[in-house]
Amino acid sequence: MKFNTKVIHAGVQPDDQTGAVMTPIYQTSTYVQAKPGDHKGYEYARTQNPTRDVLQAQMAALENAKFGVAFGSGMAATDAIAKLLKPGDEVISTNDLYGGTYRIFQQVFAHYGIRFHFVDMRNVDEVEAAVNEKTKLIWVETPTNPMINIVDIEGIVELTTDKNILTVVDNTFASPYLQQPISLGADIVIHSATKYIGGHSDVVLGIICLNDEAVYEQLKFIQNACGAVPGPQDCFLCLRGIKTLAVRMERHCENARQIAEFLTNHTKVGKVYYPGLQHHEGHNLALRQMKHAGGMLSFSLKDDSIEAAFKVMQKTNYFLLAESLGGVESLIGHPATMTHASIPLEERQKTGVLDSLIRLSVGIEDAEDLMGDLEQALAQV
Ligand SMILES: *Cc1c(COP(=O)(O)O)cnc(C)c1O
Repeated sequence: MKFNTKVIHAGVQPDDQTGAVMTPIYQTSTYVQAKPGDHKGYEYARTQNPTRDVLQAQMAALENAKFGVAFGSGMAATDAIAKLLKPGDEVISTNDLYGGTYRIFQQVFAHYGIRFHFVDMRNVDEVEAAVNEKTKLIWVETPTNPMINIVDIEGIVELTTDKNILTVVDNTFASPYLQQPISLGADIVIHSATKYIGGHSDVVLGIICLNDEAVYEQLKFIQNACGAVPGPQDCFLCLRGIKTLAVRMERHCENARQIAEFLTNHTKVGKVYYPGLQHHEGHNLALRQMKHAGGMLSFSLKDDSIEAAFKVMQKTNYFLLAESLGGVESLIGHPATMTHASIPLEERQKTGVLDSLIRLSVGIEDAEDLMGDLEQALAQV
């Protein structure tokens, strides 16, 4: 089955009992038993839910994985993966990491005796230098947030050959339509389905996809034992969003490409960070491991002040000033004070998250309208 067919059919069948074409929302906390222990595979809804099962199966299919495990948010999914570790274990990740992931690593799991190293993952040698016998996990994010850097997934995976190290890829920014890390050798893919998977800014959910049965059993155990499960209605919303993932991503990418070119030629704009642009240092790598360059981009202003950036963000009409990304509507945000506020100033400046940096999540509106909106906002700086 190819991707456009998978988003409609993979893991999804009409309901056995009624023929309902859409997966029912099984809004129940428990299931009747004929006699103790005699049930239909469903006992209690933290442990199993049919709506969640369908979402897990479909996401696994989209990521070319055997198993999917869904959680109440992307962070709950991250939490579950970190719980595979033990005190003394070490993790290597990128210094351009999603702020919430950095926070849970440094402010939650560091207290449990796990050690985190943050390196510039654009340079595979830096990752290799940080690997030692205690390394158990390499946590990759690509494209990164908000600098839209590209990390070489195959290059990182090679470092783990013959070693007991899991490679995790946060595939939230790309979505499985653009990038399938498991096919590139990664062990685990994680998504904040809140973003492109749901796609309509109306749900918070996280999902993990993987092939290894033993690790899957551990994650399923954590899902039930710790209990950060998504509700059936939220699973349904993700299933609904997935149906249009392929067509949405095409438009997100095409709009972002046009806007990146428009901004590059704009007199008030400093640097534009978009892997679809030839001058982006990850351009060739992006062409190799992604279908298109994605719907996210960042740019700085020539007037490198926080005031100028704030003005642009307050003057746009279609680009709504809000956190998050990946919905059908365009969003504009200020990483330094919004998504990355939990990262210390020094760390931020090292990675280029300057005060004037503006991040766009390009929606699926008409590109002309979006460029017109940015044009009039930039004119007021
Ligand atoms: C939003 C996001 C997360 C966290 O997901 P939630 O659903 O908000 O908990 C993790 N990684 C990336 C790249 C994100 O954008």
